Parts: sequence; C-alpha cells; structure tokens
Amino acid sequence: MKIVMLGAPGAGKGTQAEKLASKYGLPHVSTGDIFRKNIKEGTELGKEAKGYMDAGALVPDELTVRLLLDRVSNDDCDLGYILDGFPRTIPQAEALDRELAKLEEKIDFAINVEVPDDNIIERMSGRRACLKCGATYHLQYIPPKKEGICDECGSELVIRDDDKPETVKNRLATYHEQTQPLVDYYKKQGVYHEVDGTKDVDSVFDSIRDILE
Ligand code: ADP
Ligand code: AMP
Repeated sequence: MKIVMLGAPGAGKGTQAEKLASKYGLPHVSTGDIFRKNIKEGTELGKEAKGYMDAGALVPDELTVRLLLDRVSNDDCDLGYILDGFPRTIPQAEALDRELAKLEEKIDFAINVEVPDDNIIERMSGRRACLKCGATYHLQYIPPKKEGICDECGSELVIRDDDKPETVKNRLATYHEQTQPLVDYYKKQGVYHEVDGTKDVDSVFDSIRDILE
C-alpha cells in the first residue's frame, strides 16, 4: 500500500503518518525529516537544503526527487510506504508516478488532512520536534511525558528553525501556490480523499483508517 499524505505545513501529516506507519508496519518517509537530519549532521545535502527551508521555500525538485526515489528504492519500502511532505509540486508527483509506472505500480491513496490557515499558525507555534527520530509534539495538545524530552527516544526536543511566525506565513503561501494543485492531480487519478484535520489526533486517525479499510 502506497499512501501520500497531503495538507498544509502543520496540518498533522507527520503525526498521522507516524501512527499509520506503526499500525500498518510501513515506513514513514518524510523528506522534511531527511533534510533536517542532513542539516544536523552537516552534510552537503543539508547545507544546500537549509537556505530554502529557512526561507519557507521549497528545496528544488531535482534534488528532492533524487533523494526521495533513492529512499523508496530501499528494501524496507518493498511492501509500500507512507509519504509525508512529498510530493509538494506537480513535477515531483509526475516524477514519482513515472518511476512507479516502470514497476507497474501507482499511488493507492492520497489523503488530504484539511486544516484552515488560522489553526495552522497556532499549531506551528506550539510544535516541538525530535530531530533524532522525527517524533512531533505540541506544548498544549500533544505534550511529551517529560518536558522537553522525546517520549520515543529520549532526545532533546527543539523548536524547528522554520516554525517562526514569519517563515510559517511564507510556507503557507508556498503551499497554496505550489502544493495545493496536487489535490486536482490526485482527484483525476481517483485516489483522492480528505479528512477534517481540526479534530483531535485519534479522531483524525479513525477517519483515515476508515478510508484505507
Ligand atoms: P505536518 O507534518 O503536517 O507539518 P505535524 O504532524 O508536525 O504537521 O503537526 C503540527 C503540530 O500540530 C505539531 O505540534 C503536532 O503535535 C500538532 N498536531 C498534530 N495533529 C494535531 C491534532 N489533530 N490536534 C492538535 N494538534 C495536532
Ligand atoms: P516539512 O518537514 O515537511 O514541513 O518540510 C520542511 C521543509 O523542508 C519545507 O518547508 C521545504 O523547505 C523542505 N521540503 C520538505 N519536503 C519537500 C519537498 N517534497 N519538496 C521541496 N521541499 C521540501
């Protein structure tokens, strides 16, 4: 099963992808997490991506597509995967579909987690992230058991550099301009579904599970 999580930055894609990954035993593939890991480790890829990310812009398609296709060619993706934050542009979606077509495969579900822009700002300002394992928390809605520490791996939680209100505004504009057209793209393929992402985490998860099952 191959699933694409769609939605604005901060809509809860990563939160749901993580839960889906553990329920269905599929890898959670987040291009944002891969970029952040590279930034933390100081790799060339990280250096290249950081400027775009800090500005709230997208990393160029060519680089991102190469990274993603390499990741999903790993054995752990043989039975499927949950994509979170990819594709973010039509050319990225087309590049993925071309690779899948070679294997006579396709995306099975594109699930849009819908949250209005006003709620997004609030979600992002309370977000705390674990850069080691990718887990995400919210100070108010999904607090970690121990303040500032990841429940999953015990690492320190941080505020993402791109969660500053000014950057969030740019990221939302980028989303509406470049990513939202994917809604029609996947509607045309007949794999598009949407869920109300303003509900609590478990209700959103139940809605997604209903779609998949
Ligand atoms: P995305 O991966 O779409 O950028 P995240 O999964 O990181 O979004 O979620 C953004 C923020 O909102 C995080 O702080 C997360 O803990 C919180 N969050 C996610 N889902 C919900 C929800 N259903 N209700 C309240 N807060 C949520
Ligand atoms: P995310 O963790 O998904 O919110 O992504 C954080 C940032 O990483 C985005 O604002 C982009 O700058 C970059 N990024 C992540 N995924 C992609 C992608 N598919 N295409 C281009 N840039 C991306």
